[in-house]
Amino acid sequence: MDLKNITVASLRKMLDNKEIGAEEATKEFLTEIKAKDEKVLSYITVTEEEALASAKNAQSIIDSGKASPLTGIPLAIKDNICTDGVKTTCSSKMLENFVPPYNATVIEKLNAENYIMLGKTSMDEFAMGGSNQTSAFAKTKNPYDTECVPGGSSGGSAAAVSAGFCTAALGSDTGGSIRQPASFCGVTGLKPTYGRVSRYGLVAFASSLDQIGPIARTAEDCGIILNAIAGVDAHDATSKNVAFTDFNEKLGQSVKGMKIALPKEFYSDAVDEEVKNAVMSAAKEYEKMGAELVDCSISSLKYAVPAYYLIASAEAASNLSRYDGIKYGLRGEGRSFEEMIRDSRSRGFGEEVKRRILLGNYALSSGYYDAYYLKALALKQEIIKEYNEVFEKADVILTPTAPSVAYKIGAQDNDPVKMYTADICTVTVNIASLPAINTTCGYDKNGMPIGMSIVGKRFDEATLIQTADAFEKTFSPVRCTL
Ligand code: GLN
Repeated sequence: MDLKNITVASLRKMLDNKEIGAEEATKEFLTEIKAKDEKVLSYITVTEEEALASAKNAQSIIDSGKASPLTGIPLAIKDNICTDGVKTTCSSKMLENFVPPYNATVIEKLNAENYIMLGKTSMDEFAMGGSNQTSAFAKTKNPYDTECVPGGSSGGSAAAVSAGFCTAALGSDTGGSIRQPASFCGVTGLKPTYGRVSRYGLVAFASSLDQIGPIARTAEDCGIILNAIAGVDAHDATSKNVAFTDFNEKLGQSVKGMKIALPKEFYSDAVDEEVKNAVMSAAKEYEKMGAELVDCSISSLKYAVPAYYLIASAEAASNLSRYDGIKYGLRGEGRSFEEMIRDSRSRGFGEEVKRRILLGNYALSSGYYDAYYLKALALKQEIIKEYNEVFEKADVILTPTAPSVAYKIGAQDNDPVKMYTADICTVTVNIASLPAINTTCGYDKNGMPIGMSIVGKRFDEATLIQTADAFEKTFSPVRCTL
């Protein structure tokens, strides 16, 4: 049975109707991974044995008629989410042999539904990057064109979904790492509101921005997964107790009368013509469905990338100070304590991670703290204020997800600033703690996917899923062939 393009929702029905068994479905994905992942390199670790054991267990639950929405559904997990007894490398030499002794809260929640973990997916090292090429291990390729990047940092998860190596996956998003790879790989990715999903067990990059979320084939599937992983958690003081019943509760409701804002700064010359045109025709499609397009402005967008890189790097420098070669992770050599730490960090971290640590510590150092870090925090307030103003007159905001489609591997290798600038369309959402969803709205002349982002009010993920789903129902995606 070909499950390559199956959604979580339809596999659920097939499992419940006994059209397929959980073990058969799991084997099907494992066979696909074995046969084709060498072309894409989306997984770092494939947990075949554990997956088959979970499938057996899931099947007995399905047979007893007690299945939850994710019982027996094979998913992939980004390799910065801690999995008890299974290596969690963050694509870094520093954590090459790190086996967590506990599960992240999201994994506990998925386990409670008896999901199946197929394995851990590659990413940019410590989630820093937008191409998956900073991974110390598998430098993932785009399934639509293996000469192109899959995006990042959740590039392994997005590529695995796109290539049909799982039904859906978890990623994490600090400045766009769910939405941008979803855009590059032609799939749907949802970054929840900051605080919606527990970060406990997510290896920290920038704690005030990081958020775990689903990458799937449809907005509906994102809702099913978010239903399972959301909620306040005593282990994460930044998780919020905001009630929800079902993130798919608005699915199928008309978008008639919905106000969709188009901030002009997101449609500037910095964004490729083909991308702008595809997003604008999606906007017109919404208009046809009865939505109202509203012009607006987020003028602080010009400061977004510097503000984001200052805040994210400052937090990263602090978070990554824990890797000293002593408690866990790579242990270097040296005659003194200091030499050993220096050697561990020099060998354990890749170039991009070192760059961020240097930038972060510089911005936090006395003398520069006021000039850089405090200015970035002031900009954060300005960005929040502007979004609040837009949401006074609109329900959602529509923007491109990235200024371009997936580019050729190597194209931005020696130009970090160019890579940072490409985050322009995604970072403000994290800075303002908002939820956003990427879905495919077209393809460029070479057949590469173009993504659009729908940004919502805090904790209003249900409206994002409704809006993305309404478009998905009008759009025929071209799935990749490997
Ligand atoms: N590309 C951005 C960065 O490099 C975002 C990364 C992320 O969201 N984890 O920081």
